[in-house]
Amino acid sequence: MHIRHVDVVDPDGERVLPDRRIVLDGDRIAAVTPDTSEPPAAGDLDGTGLYAVPGLIDCHVHATSVTADEWADTGYPPSYVTAHALRQLRGMLERGFTTVRDAGGADAGLADALDEGVAAGPRLYVCGKALSQTGGHGDLRPRGRRHADDHPAVPGIGQVVDGAPALRVAVRELARSGASFVKLMLSGGISSPTDRIDGTQYSDEEVRAAVEEAQRAGLYCAGHAYTPQAVARALRLGVRTIEHGNLIGPEEAALLAAYGAFYVPTLVTYTVLAEEGPRLGLPPASVAKVAAVRDGGLAALAHAHRAGAAVAFGTDLLGGMHHHQSGEFALRAQVQPDWAVLRSATTTGARLLGATGALGVIAEGARADILLTRHNPGTHVALLADPAAEIAAVVSRGRPVVRG
Ligand code: ZN
Ligand code: ZN
Repeated sequence: MHIRHVDVVDPDGERVLPDRRIVLDGDRIAAVTPDTSEPPAAGDLDGTGLYAVPGLIDCHVHATSVTADEWADTGYPPSYVTAHALRQLRGMLERGFTTVRDAGGADAGLADALDEGVAAGPRLYVCGKALSQTGGHGDLRPRGRRHADDHPAVPGIGQVVDGAPALRVAVRELARSGASFVKLMLSGGISSPTDRIDGTQYSDEEVRAAVEEAQRAGLYCAGHAYTPQAVARALRLGVRTIEHGNLIGPEEAALLAAYGAFYVPTLVTYTVLAEEGPRLGLPPASVAKVAAVRDGGLAALAHAHRAGAAVAFGTDLLGGMHHHQSGEFALRAQVQPDWAVLRSATTTGARLLGATGALGVIAEGARADILLTRHNPGTHVALLADPAAEIAAVVSRGRPVVRG
């Protein structure tokens, strides 16, 4: 298939290459050349008046989240959760996210099924279940409950693992079962019922053990962390991506840049949780925690941008909140230039995933994930917040996506 007479957007070069022909060969881009004056042939996609944008990358989703009540989610049959996950993933693809990184809950089976074409969905990078200490952000038990079913087939965003030796085994098990990174809960969070947002979770010894085991297996560690202390410690101990980080200041932003780490803000989830959380099942104890981190998010992103840290795109939406995914673009455009926001969801996301040159770009040899948009998002990135209006077509794995 060829995409004809289209203006190709280059996020790193901050430029548009006018009137190009993109030649697709299966799931690869075979060539990007100036187009001739001949009209598109049958079977070609006519890009006249449209922009070709690299398929978007969301580096923080929870595909298996059925509701905003994560404890309730652990009680559903895995088949039910999988069915919901496929629906969520299809929605992400239709919004232009051709690659997503699941930050807790999805396993390699889901990624493999999508790669095999069992259902339409983005390329999926998984970490299995996030690792949490007892009483940490991945421990969803209400205060009065002692037992949780830790069978690996039980749905859920996290698993409780305490102690360095046990963490080593857990990381080895994740690597064995197809995780492409390891997620560590390193501070309190919103959905966990018994921890404090400003708590720091896991001992240094435990984090070191997890990081070392991950590195040995060729994986990296992602850390959920809100406070300056939790973020600085995570970076010092070798954690490579910082998730959320809403409360960081200029010093931690400089540390992110110095360590060459990635910052993955997830601004939209706090806006939506504040507005719709209770209706969508967020328990009252969690609603009270939203305010503590929501307001810091934009300032934290501004600090990271100014420090020159690598910023990737994330959303962190739960259950019925997923249709707000693209709202993240409009929020970020308040504090970052449009080209920078676009890079976060394309080239920087690809770099985070270790897929530079394969994802996030429209170039020979890259994967055939391409959006056709009505405006250049490099100068109008907030328009991506309304994907139904702004995105004329989504091409995923070399094929146009039929949108419902
Ligand atoms: Zn988190
Ligand atoms: Zn998350």
